[in-house]
This record gives sequence, C-alpha cells and structure tokens, in this order.
Amino acid sequence: MLVRTHTCGQLRESDVAATVRLNGWVNSYRDHGNLVFIDLRDRYGITQLVFDREDGAAQSMMDAADKLRNEDVIAVEGTVRVRKGGENPKLATGKVEIVVTSLEVLAKTDNPPFLPDDLAKLPNEELRLTHRYIDLRRPSMQRVLAARHKVYQVTRRYFDEQGFLEVETPILYKSTPEGAREFLVPTRHVPGSFYALPQSPQLFKQILMVAGCDRYMQVCRCFRDEDPRADRQAEFTQIDLEMSFVRREQVMQTMEGFVRRLWKEMTGIDVPPLRRMSYREAMEDYGIDRPDTRYDLRIRDVSDFARTVEFGIFKSALEKGADRPRFNSKKGVVKAMRVPGGADKLTRKVTDGYTEFVKGFGAGGVAVVKVIKGEDGQPKLDTGIAKFLEPRKAEFLALLGCEVGDTVLFLADTYSVATKAIGELRQKVARDMGLLPAPGAEGGPWNFLWVVDFPMFEKNKDTGKWVAMHHPFTSPTDEQMQAFLDADPDDEVTIEGIVSAGYDIVLNGQEIAGGSVRIHDRAVQSKVFKLLGLTPEQAKEKFSFLLEALSYGAPPHAGIAFGLDRLVMNFVGTDNIRDVIAFPKTQIGADLMTRAPSPVPEAQLRDVHIRALTPPAP
Ligand code: ASP
Repeated sequence: MLVRTHTCGQLRESDVAATVRLNGWVNSYRDHGNLVFIDLRDRYGITQLVFDREDGAAQSMMDAADKLRNEDVIAVEGTVRVRKGGENPKLATGKVEIVVTSLEVLAKTDNPPFLPDDLAKLPNEELRLTHRYIDLRRPSMQRVLAARHKVYQVTRRYFDEQGFLEVETPILYKSTPEGAREFLVPTRHVPGSFYALPQSPQLFKQILMVAGCDRYMQVCRCFRDEDPRADRQAEFTQIDLEMSFVRREQVMQTMEGFVRRLWKEMTGIDVPPLRRMSYREAMEDYGIDRPDTRYDLRIRDVSDFARTVEFGIFKSALEKGADRPRFNSKKGVVKAMRVPGGADKLTRKVTDGYTEFVKGFGAGGVAVVKVIKGEDGQPKLDTGIAKFLEPRKAEFLALLGCEVGDTVLFLADTYSVATKAIGELRQKVARDMGLLPAPGAEGGPWNFLWVVDFPMFEKNKDTGKWVAMHHPFTSPTDEQMQAFLDADPDDEVTIEGIVSAGYDIVLNGQEIAGGSVRIHDRAVQSKVFKLLGLTPEQAKEKFSFLLEALSYGAPPHAGIAFGLDRLVMNFVGTDNIRDVIAFPKTQIGADLMTRAPSPVPEAQLRDVHIRALTPPAP
C-alpha cells in the first residue's frame, strides 16, 4: 500500500515540488477525458488530485481514475504543484494540487445511500443513523467528534490539576431506587436476580469519599430507561465529581473554575463570575428552576392585588389552601406576566392557544388583558378580563409598570400548578415574541447561573408520596439540619419547607450540572429513607452498603455532575443530542445501525433464566 506521507489537510505552497502520498476517500470527481480531477478527503481536509494524460499519466492509470466514484478509498503518489486552475480559497490546501503518478484503489464502494456532503441537503435522520459511518465522514460531524474530544481533554486536565483522581466505577451495578427507571441485566449465575445499569455512579463516588479518595472524577456513562425526549438519550455521559471535607462553597468555586476554563478553551470567551439565584427566586420570577435569563419577561405574584378584583376565577383560586403558608404547593395564587409589545403580536388566536397550552400543565386557562391607547391618549384596558380590572386600573398599571402596547397574561391556580404553567408559558411567549437572541460568533450569549436552596422533597402528583427533589443522598442545609431531624414525617407543611444543600448550574435555560452536599450521617440518611416511604427493612435491603459505609467514618463530602452531551451541544450549536454522540439511539431507544435492541434465541434466554412474556415481533 502507498502509505501516506501527509494528510489531506496538510499540503501548502511550501510543499511544491515534493513527492507525496495521500490516502483518503473520493469526495468528488470531474472527468474531462484526458484530465481527471479528484477531491480527496480525510478527517483533516480535502486536497485536489490531477490525473493528466498530457502530463505523462499512464493510460492504465487514466482508465482506473476514470472509474473512480464518490467514496471509493484510494492511495496516490504524486508531485505537489501550484494549482493550475487558480486558488480555491475555501480549502486550506487550496493553493496546491497533486499531479498523480501512481494510483492504488484500496476499497471500491457500493453505491452509497447518501454522500457525506455538508453542503447538500441532509438526508433524513433515520438514513443517517442507519449508515452512521457515512454520516460521520461529513466534515461537520468530524468537527463535533473533535469538539467532544477536546471537552474530555480540558476536563481531565483541569481536574487533574485540582488533585482529582479518575476512578472507574462498575457498569454492572445493584438495582437502587435513585429516581429514574433502570435497565436490568439478568445473570446466568443467580436465577431470578439482576444487575442494574447505573443511573449515575452516585453511591460509588460517595463510598470513594468514605474510602479516603478525597477528590474523584470520572467521565462516565449513565443509563436511565426514561420516556423519550428530544434532548435525552437513555445512555448518556456525565462528568462526575465528588470532594471530601468541603461544604457547598468549595464545590461551587471549583466547578465555576472548571466552567470558566472550559469556555475559555472551547470558545475563547471569559465567563464572568456566575450569578446565584435561590430556587424560590427562580420559581417566583421565572416559574422554573432553570430560568432562561437571556430575556427578561418576569413573572409576578399578584395575589394581593387579585384579591381586590371581582373576578370569579381569581377568587376561587385564592380560596384554595388559604390557611397554608406562602410558597406552599397547595396554596392558591394569581400570577401575572407583562409582555411588552404583546398587544400587537399576541393576537386573540395566539392567546386562545395559550389557554390550550397551559391545560397541558393542569391549569384551567390564561386570562388576558391588553393595554392600548384610549381616545383620551391615556392607557386603556382592552379585551379579556379588562372589565374586571377597570375599577382598579391605575393600581394595576402601576403594579406591573404597564405601558401602552403591553399584554398581561394571568394564571390563577394552586402555587404549584400556576407557577409551572406560567413558567412554561413564559418560554413559549419568548419564542412567539422573538425574544431569543440569535447565537453570536462564539455561540453565545451565554447566561450562566447557579440555582441554590432547593426544597429537599416534593410530592409526586400521581402517588401522593414524597420524592427527593435531587436524590435521596442530598443533605439538608447546615442551618436546616436540626429542623429536618425534628420534623414530624406527617407534617406536610414543614417537610415541604425543608431546604436542601443542592445546587445546579443553569445555562440559557438548561440545567448543565447538578449536585449537592451529601448526607454523611447515618441517622439523617435513615430519616430520608423513611420519609421516602422505605421501611427500615427495605432501606437495609437496598442500601445496607451505604448505611454501613456511613457508619465507618464518613467524611463530609459533596459533589456534582455535568451533562457532557449538553455541554458539547452548546459548543457545536445544535439542539439535537444525537448530533453530539457518535452512535446515538433514536427517541425510542433503537440503534438503527446495529438494530439493537433485538430478539435473542430461546436458548440464550433460558441460560439467564428468563422467559419472554411477549414473543418477539417476526
Ligand atoms: N448523581 C447526580 C446525578 O446524576 C449528580 C450529583 O449529585 O453529583 O444527577
């Protein structure tokens, strides 16, 4: 084989007259009879090859060149010269070409289902995933792989400098109720028993702290058998971290340093110190615990004002949970969002659509009012619930700082329903109003923030049971520790008010990292398990290893995990998670290239003591 001396992205004018060898794929060819041009491509770039009969190319080689087709794999030897046809400024090698003297066809291709061409319209994703090896040849996909690789390198370098040890943790793990549904793996050796694939290495990293590892990191795969979502994969990658002898502050500083380093190396920009926002502030102003702060659109609690308005829907909402404290999920509230310029843009049809939209989040509908210019030139309330607000117009306008041209949208329901619904609505309105900024040169604007002081527990709507908002190993804040230990498990209001020592990093409305100070005290951990409805026997069965480890000298520890796929999505500017994973699965978890999951022979099932209830589709 004519082994390459250079890559297809390497040759420059300074190489003119050199004899070189290149290997690669035929990216395109132009055949002028006695003159054949081939663009040869590899991961590094494209170089033009010339087969020229008049330049002395042998007829046999001309015949072979003539038969080359897109995606054939070839090796050539030849001489570098300045391009006769003039420079191609689009290519790094665009000043030169190679006059080929020898050609070796390394592999002929079948007719490809599509060409890995970034300029042509992309084929549908199913075809791309089925023939991922062709799709990945596209220069833009090669850039994604390179960006992802760089994220790994910067990550490992930074955490190595900070004294973290990379430790691998098992993939075949124990089934533990950590939050998400697990993938199970049967084993031949123990009939009826299963491994689970880890949702995250959470407990191993905590146990590594008990084991004296002090600072742990791992770029690791996590598995969650969750319902499909556009930005999720059942199998995804985390940058997983844990630190000993720290409180929240030290973790936040170390991780902020990482974010700054990563953004500097990936985009060249200097991330300013991250702003901090409490969960409560996020929920109050943005209706979500991962607010998108690239645009303003604030939400206001206008319950006190709404109490003075004779409007049935406000009144009945405010009667709900009237005796409950502020921010309690079951207390009735009225929330409002002022949309500057909405009076024109948000037509009746659009706002009717909002009512349908919020029904999806359990709310009854959206009340609307517009602020228009009256005949007297003064602001006038129009449409929707204008007549109910009219008697209190001045107060209303002042309360929200309304101006002519605004629309105000209201949500009246329990705190949890109204907050969730208006938070989702805020994002929709932002899109409808065109408030999302277009990406700049370095991909930004990048709006980072820490969200802190989350509640420890929330009620699962379907089961009515408490669930840990982060995970069951998250500690209450130091200040709330005693209140937590003293709390009566049946005292719903108090339990809902316990604040955890969790923290998330939010970027442009996405959670890119989440973590917490952990429980390192066995009694506190047992109380959490109890609240989550585990009997002492169940807790022992599931978590005895953790509880035991906690009783043999556990240092205070805390950690976090970054979603690596999401980080890469930001750097390469895609909102499709499949674009940043070499071999992703579809939304229903299928690998179209290998055709996994797939049925297995009866005998193989018998080996692992399993009988399928549903026979495989033929
Ligand atoms: N294990 C957690 C998760 O996967 C992250 C952490 O708390 O460190 O979300």
